[in-house]
Amino acid sequence: MLKYTDYDIVFQEIPDEVTLAINISNCPNKCEGCHSPYLMEDIGEPLTIESLSMLLQKYKSGITCVCFMGGDASPFEVEQLALYLQCQPTPVKTGWYSGKQNLPSGFDISSFNYIKLGPYIGTRGGLKSELTNQRLYKIINREMIDITSRFWKQTV
Ligand code: SF4
Repeated sequence: MLKYTDYDIVFQEIPDEVTLAINISNCPNKCEGCHSPYLMEDIGEPLTIESLSMLLQKYKSGITCVCFMGGDASPFEVEQLALYLQCQPTPVKTGWYSGKQNLPSGFDISSFNYIKLGPYIGTRGGLKSELTNQRLYKIINREMIDITSRFWKQTV
């Protein structure tokens, strides 16, 4: 079962969106230099349709996107929660930050507007680093468009 430890309204994790970012625990990835080691523990409250629905009711007027931060131990549960959000009368956009290099076999990207892939490597940095191995994709018509450069300083 997915569990979440905390959440926040953030502005930079997904470009052009006001995002409710939900931190999911029990991360299996063990990235060296992990920025949030507490997320490797199996802690927090169950993240279910019911708990997600309560968060949505509370924040939906102020957000444009919900992003699941983690959940690699149960990616198909993340997929189901994203599908639930997209089926709402007033849908919000959906994002997923995965620490895996690739999507799981059989994963349906059509429930997502954004997906981040790639483990955290301390020497290469996160999405804001031009050296990063991580990639943020925007999903348009089931195509994954790499928009990682949106995080980098524009020179023009
Ligand atoms: S994916 Fe994130 S939380 Fe998981 S080990 Fe890597 S840096 Fe830590």
